[in-house]
Amino acid sequence: MKAIQIHAIGDFDVVQEVELPVPVPQAGQVLVKIAAIGVNYIENYYRDGRYPAKLPFTLGMEASGTVAEVGKGVTGFAPGDRVVSAAVMGAYAEYALVPAAQLVHVPQALGLQQAAAVFLQGLTAHYLARSTFALQPGHVALVHAAAGGVGLLLTQMASQCGARVIATVSTQAKAELARAAGADEVILYTETDFVAATRELTGGRGVDVVYDSVGKTTFAGSMDCLRPRGMLALYGASSGAVPPFDPILLNTKGSLFLTRPTLAHYVQTREELEWRAGEVLQSVAGNKLALRMEHSYPLADARQALMDIASRRTTGKLLLLP
Ligand code: NDP
Repeated sequence: MKAIQIHAIGDFDVVQEVELPVPVPQAGQVLVKIAAIGVNYIENYYRDGRYPAKLPFTLGMEASGTVAEVGKGVTGFAPGDRVVSAAVMGAYAEYALVPAAQLVHVPQALGLQQAAAVFLQGLTAHYLARSTFALQPGHVALVHAAAGGVGLLLTQMASQCGARVIATVSTQAKAELARAAGADEVILYTETDFVAATRELTGGRGVDVVYDSVGKTTFAGSMDCLRPRGMLALYGASSGAVPPFDPILLNTKGSLFLTRPTLAHYVQTREELEWRAGEVLQSVAGNKLALRMEHSYPLADARQALMDIASRRTTGKLLLLP
């Protein structure tokens, strides 16, 4: 089968297509014939060494497809079932193994491409809005990079929870997308001081929560946007890693809460995974959650997709098709 691997840490040229044997499912695993692969920021972190990878390493963790074979002890899945997961062991391939515990069925009303396009980012938006800081009517949330993949879904979910959403984006075109997703106010943080603008929009009070996936360039400002005892949910580092800082700042800036969450810790039980996956997939199937599929590439063009997602030019989701 064809797969996309990295054999070294480095620039985009380390991303290469290879020929591998189709893997055999072990106990508790399911072999999936891949239909669509979600491209995520994290793949570039493995490529550039920010996250450790055992080389050679098949990229990708998000995909949908049909069950080809099940390993020993697997119940609840059978060949032909339509499935999706955000814990695929090497999704950039024609076939991949998935732990059965991390696999869910795709509702009939939903296409496999849609399922792959929403799964990882949708689960992320769900845990951020419903659990990390459980939004209620009356809350005010600041969502950075609101026209991005997670950003558009998070803006919709936050708005559906009844929160007032202040969004930041880099361009007018992205501002339109954020507004269409439900943002009440949009700040062009490349032109306007987003701290001053947020303070003004909240009558000086500050917001209850900042969802920050941008990291290096926004982190300090995000703390300055919060009300006393507000929460900074730092869930990404699209502009680079946040440098070390003194925790006393959390005290002086208002007894703030800082968390650095990741999806794996919010789908630890089967019950939690099924709750989040069910709500996300049914919302897309029922047109309650709008999906923006920006572009799909043949699997062989994975390198280009990884360059594009890092370029800041994309909005919504990128897919690879084997
Ligand atoms: P996006 O589509 O949102 O792309 C990133 C966005 O970040 C860009 O569109 C851009 O929006 C903004 N950005 C700001 N500064 C930069 C910069 N210097 N270079 C590139 N982009 C920049 O990607 P995703 O939705 O896939 O992921 C968003 C972030 O969330 C990533 O950092 C990812 O790692 C993280 N993530 C974390 C998860 C978790 O559980 N913790 C799970 C999934 C994703 P603009 O032009 O408007 O500034």
